[in-house]
Amino acid sequence: KLFNEIQELKGNIRVYCRLRPFLPGQKEKQTIVEHIGETELVVANPAKTGKEALRTFKFNKVFGPTSTQAEVYADVQAFIRSVLDGYNVCIFAYGQTGSGKTYTMSGPNGATPESVGVNYRALNDLFSISTSRKSSIAYEIGTCDFLDLHTLGILNHSQPNGLAVPDATMLPVKTTSDVIKLMDIGLKNRAKGSTAMNERSSRSHSVVSIHVRGVDQKSGSSLHGNLHLVDLAGSERVDRSEVTGDRLKEAQHINKSLSALGDVIFALAQKSPHVPYRNSKLTQLLQSSLGGHAKTLMLVQINSDIKSFSESLSTLKFAERVS
Ligand code: ADP
Ligand code: MG
Repeated sequence: KLFNEIQELKGNIRVYCRLRPFLPGQKEKQTIVEHIGETELVVANPAKTGKEALRTFKFNKVFGPTSTQAEVYADVQAFIRSVLDGYNVCIFAYGQTGSGKTYTMSGPNGATPESVGVNYRALNDLFSISTSRKSSIAYEIGTCDFLDLHTLGILNHSQPNGLAVPDATMLPVKTTSDVIKLMDIGLKNRAKGSTAMNERSSRSHSVVSIHVRGVDQKSGSSLHGNLHLVDLAGSERVDRSEVTGDRLKEAQHINKSLSALGDVIFALAQKSPHVPYRNSKLTQLLQSSLGGHAKTLMLVQINSDIKSFSESLSTLKFAERVS
């Protein structure tokens, strides 16, 4: 009960953390992040020893490296139900490139029903719950926009009705089989050029937006809910000595947009009267779905190997600030 009240006070923001397992063939297997129980994890700083090396972090939920897609989704499902109650919901995957953001959101290449991620499960649930709910509300699942939000030179020309979204593919979605087709397309594209895809996805935010309208057949009143599923650009800091020119500029823009997102969620969590939505295209795009009648879930992905220590620590600090 108390836990629920705290959640309410914090403006419906939840942070879950998921530790990526070591992959077959991965050489570096020394673990420096471990989960303790359902809501805590501990990080060991390899440069220090004893108690001084350890730091614990607490989140709404911590998923260990053996957690399954179904287990993760079980704790996401309530957010999807909220969309059908008229909430705007944003679900973000945050973390360095290779930490499992795409795995959690979409699944691996060639995903099976067991390994599909949040996107597919959420869409599927929207359809099955909306058609099976015993209520007088008739639901319509509107267009499903797929959009890659690059950080350089794109989205900087506003249209009269708001933001321009030139890279988006507008696809009407009416049935579960449409969704399956849609996901198939996504998976095929990824299988085609996974190196190119990875390169691209580490440098852009990928946003899937679903619009839901419900009309009460008795009263005629209507409700609207939006669901945004966001696979964020990689959060790694790029070494100034390694990249130059446009690539450096791009990296700086990514970091700027991720910290702008952090600032918005932090302001919402603090119930601050000023929420700095205008500091990035990402937060402008999602403004109506962040804060107000909205729920936010941050899925924070962590690599627990020793080489990722500094990136993991900065990811956890970001997550701690917004939680
Ligand atoms: P990101 O999108 O953050 O760059 P990916 O989702 O592409 O990272 O994950 C990197 C690699 O790790 C991929 O090969 C992916 O299939 C694998 N992987 C990530 N998370 C898991 C997991 N929970 N279980 C098994 N493999 C995973
Ligand atoms: Mg990815």
